[in-house]
Amino acid sequence: MNIVQCTFCKKPFASLGGRACPACLEQIDKDFITVRDYIYEHKHSNIDIISKETEVPKQIIMHLLKEGRLIIDSPDGDGLLICEMCKKPINTGRLCKECMGKVSSSMDKNVADHKKPEPKPEEPNIKGSAKINS
Ligand SMILES: [Zn+2]
Ligand SMILES: [Zn+2]
Repeated sequence: MNIVQCTFCKKPFASLGGRACPACLEQIDKDFITVRDYIYEHKHSNIDIISKETEVPKQIIMHLLKEGRLIIDSPDGDGLLICEMCKKPINTGRLCKECMGKVSSSMDKNVADHKKPEPKPEEPNIKGSAKINS
């Protein structure tokens, strides 16, 4: 367990891996429902209006979008979110569909690599022997 600073209220807390403290997580869950209901009723809205009308901070709305819990109801996400790999506009999450595909297929490859048996130990180390953690 690590002590980290909460992304939202900046207080230190004991984290199990997340970046938000339990109090903020609870608040985010409530905000999520508020924003989700708002978007459901006002389909073509943008984040400024949503934030103003629901009184949910933009930071939290962005967080929910990046987590993929909220989706902006326009294909390019009103330019609010961009794919972290190819910089294309997206409407939810961190990556566009194509990059998600790439990432998950390379992850599959990693998993497959891990399943491979140990490399042969008798291979002579000719090139790398003089290299020390450069
Ligand atoms: Zn917090
Ligand atoms: Zn992409």
